[in-house]
Amino acid sequence: MSEQDCIFCKIVRGEIPAEIVHQDEHTIAFKDIHPAAPVHVLVVPRKHIPSLDDITPADQDLLGRMLVAASRIAKAQGVADSGYRTVINCREEAGQVVFHLHLHILGGRRMRLMG
Ligand code: AMP
Ligand code: ZN
Repeated sequence: MSEQDCIFCKIVRGEIPAEIVHQDEHTIAFKDIHPAAPVHVLVVPRKHIPSLDDITPADQDLLGRMLVAASRIAKAQGVADSGYRTVINCREEAGQVVFHLHLHILGGRRMRLMG
């Protein structure tokens, strides 16, 4: 999937709408269109990286920024104290369906081991 066709690149470029809850120079975060929990936000790097397995050491800072953004978003969404889960699905068997790296933030309900 090229950057041209990638749905999250389209959100980054503002070509399709999303409920954006955070953005900075390197990341953007928006509500998941099919929420699996009362709070379900996706943190996405502006740079198109297909999956976690496509990162290089040059992306180290970016990955740290995604986690710092996740922590800020969890506070802003009111789930920092109650607790939340962060998930990155990597490739097919993990259930990745959008091949632009993203971190799920899930909160607002008690999580089970697998979901
Ligand atoms: P994954 O299975 O980790 O690839 O997760 C992809 C997530 O992206 C799913 O939870 C989808 O509901 C979500 N998603 C797909 N398209 C959109 C969109 N246009 N806006 C917001 N979330 C989306
Ligand atoms: Zn992309």
